[in-house]
Amino acid sequence: MHYTGTIWRPPYEADSLILEATAGCTHHRCKFCTLYDELPFKFKASELSTMESDLLEAQTWFHDPLSKIEAHLFSLPAPKRCRVFLAGANPFALKSKRLLEIAGLIYKHFPTCKTIGCFARVTDVTSKTDEELAALREAGYTGLTIGIETGDDKALAFMNKGYAAQDIVAQCARLDAADIAYAFFYLAGISGKGHGIEGARLTAAVCNQTRPSLIGANILTIYKNSELYQEILAGNWEEETEIEKYQEIKALVEDLEIPVEYAMLGASNPVMMQGRLPEQRTQIIAALDRVIEEIGEDRLRHYRTNLKHL
Ligand code: SF4
Repeated sequence: MHYTGTIWRPPYEADSLILEATAGCTHHRCKFCTLYDELPFKFKASELSTMESDLLEAQTWFHDPLSKIEAHLFSLPAPKRCRVFLAGANPFALKSKRLLEIAGLIYKHFPTCKTIGCFARVTDVTSKTDEELAALREAGYTGLTIGIETGDDKALAFMNKGYAAQDIVAQCARLDAADIAYAFFYLAGISGKGHGIEGARLTAAVCNQTRPSLIGANILTIYKNSELYQEILAGNWEEETEIEKYQEIKALVEDLEIPVEYAMLGASNPVMMQGRLPEQRTQIIAALDRVIEEIGEDRLRHYRTNLKHL
């Protein structure tokens, strides 16, 4: 398989076939982000011929007689590849025509595939017409993961995210109309010292106008090669304490009114948790309180400063 640099996928895509459709990010300007800095280019789309050879390789592996015998011996369910996740920061930025060609290739080699997902930026949706979104859904595109990060306009602008809170609401309404499901990533700490809780409440207000299947919270980890680190050195921005980040997450969980799966599963979370809102709100808040009271700032900070890689 062709993979370029570090490959990130959401935790819930663990069973999906990971197919590289792009490498890097079309935006590449968020001040906190260092995810694709190791690449010698900003963004690159894979050649269709390369993707096809990856699909052929994956198909060979998928039909491996040994894994079939193993499944039979251990009474495992017959393996069925029914979802493909396109790797890259935002493959949804590709033109609809190319995304449809990719879908055609996938179904040609994996007729059992039912859906195709990928990371997407809010602006990748903006650039597509309603008709294009409908055609993409028809071709199986659904379950996008969108790193909205926050609904706090000041933080979005300071961090160069390239869209405003209202764009999240407007573009997600278009995804809803096209029946394309989506999950959100939220970035605790993005509003900066003294603004975390306010940022979380603004984010909840945005999320409450949308229909994500899941909201996954990640926690801001600042690396020295980020633009944000330079802003801190210049005295333009201050990081929240780890406890403030958790209080912010509590405010988000308290204010979310939509039915949604809530998760903290990525490497930036020292404590993993997952639950359903609103049913498990009390338990999630109690778990967050335990992190604040029993683990405390020093140990949380120790985790953060020793997190070498996201
Ligand atoms: S859009 Fe995502 S991958 Fe691209 S720079 Fe921003 S945070 Fe990083």
